Amino acid sequence: MNNKMFYLILLSIVLGILGGIFLPEDMIALRWLGTLFINLLKLIALPLIFSALVGAITSIGDTKRLGSIGIYTIMYVIASVSFAVIIGLVLLNVFKPGVGLPPELILANMPATHTKALDFSSFLLTLFPPNIVAAAAKFEIMPIVFFSIVFSIACISVGESAKPVMHLFNGLRDVFVKMIIWLMYLTPIGLFSLLGSAIAEASLQKRLMQSVKGMLLFIVVFMTGLALQCLWQYAIVRYIKGKKSNEFVRQASSPMLTAFVTSSSIATLPVALIAAKQLKLNDEVARFVLPFSTTINLAGTAMYEAVSTLFFCQILGMHLSITSQIGIFITSIVAGMGATGIPEGGLVTMIMVLRSANVPTSALVLLLPFDRILDRFRTMVNVWGSLVCTATVDYLATAKQGRVIEALPVYASEKDEVALAQ
Ligand code: ASP
Repeated sequence: MNNKMFYLILLSIVLGILGGIFLPEDMIALRWLGTLFINLLKLIALPLIFSALVGAITSIGDTKRLGSIGIYTIMYVIASVSFAVIIGLVLLNVFKPGVGLPPELILANMPATHTKALDFSSFLLTLFPPNIVAAAAKFEIMPIVFFSIVFSIACISVGESAKPVMHLFNGLRDVFVKMIIWLMYLTPIGLFSLLGSAIAEASLQKRLMQSVKGMLLFIVVFMTGLALQCLWQYAIVRYIKGKKSNEFVRQASSPMLTAFVTSSSIATLPVALIAAKQLKLNDEVARFVLPFSTTINLAGTAMYEAVSTLFFCQILGMHLSITSQIGIFITSIVAGMGATGIPEGGLVTMIMVLRSANVPTSALVLLLPFDRILDRFRTMVNVWGSLVCTATVDYLATAKQGRVIEALPVYASEKDEVALAQ
């Protein structure tokens, strides 16, 4: 995504806002363009999530060979993504930025739907439908996620003869990522239509200013969450590196800036690998942990998915019990781990979290105008998380235990991934 795209998006935001305020009826008539954009996102979401999860989990099969390195990495990733989601949910519950915002902002792009929150037992039942194809046809994503997890574990236990299947899914994943990159070129059109019609709806009801205030509060709360996520990980760096922690931050600043500029953790991977080298982290550890973490440790993205979904629920006036929030917690973790580290990769898996909370996918419209800039910040947090993860595993596996590490397989084909993200 180049500069031209950035300006096109800015232009579509300006035109959408102006159109929504001054030509509300026309903007509402153009709503179908935005619906088309969301349909395309949904079209790719299912196959992408399936192939990305199978690709990522089957590669964990190799971690058996890696022993403690693989286990430390997975433990760190689960902890970091979970903390991110918890921080986000707590902040949203405290500041409630969505309370008082007009639900029309979400419902404008969709006929009003039945939006009731699921209780925990019904949530669990939706995870295990009797027919997986029927679930896919109804766009129920969580059963697909569980199915992919079990499918991947089966591939790993079958072993050698399942290798072609695993390769096939890795290839499919690359193809779907490519399709998403193409789809992102349509963002300005989708944004113009979705934003314009939502603003038209709000301005027809004279509730525009109220909406802007709520959105700004949401952004401030989310950024605070990202800062807290960086902070607790910085505490780990302080513990591991002691006085050298400033050097760590200095070296990490280069990949983080790259993350900010590219909005892509995958594109930032080569720069992160260089930083790891300069930090004198064990080369083999870095070559395994960084690509692996870049693929599944998207903590900033997971936090974004959780806070956005809760924000929408607040706008829609849905009362969320603690068990429903646990549902959001679990799906956001899976969504953060299943998201792809490309610009706006999180938007695709966001659909899954929205569906599981019974929020209409048209709610995405509220985020689109800000998503480009928020994406840059959450990508920085994702990259920072991967570097701290590598330093932690390096500390636990080598520095602390003085273990000699044999050559480890590189998890992903870095060259291909970078090329894809460009
Ligand atoms: N752009 C993010 C990344 O590359 C993914 C996302 O949150 O959209 O890490």
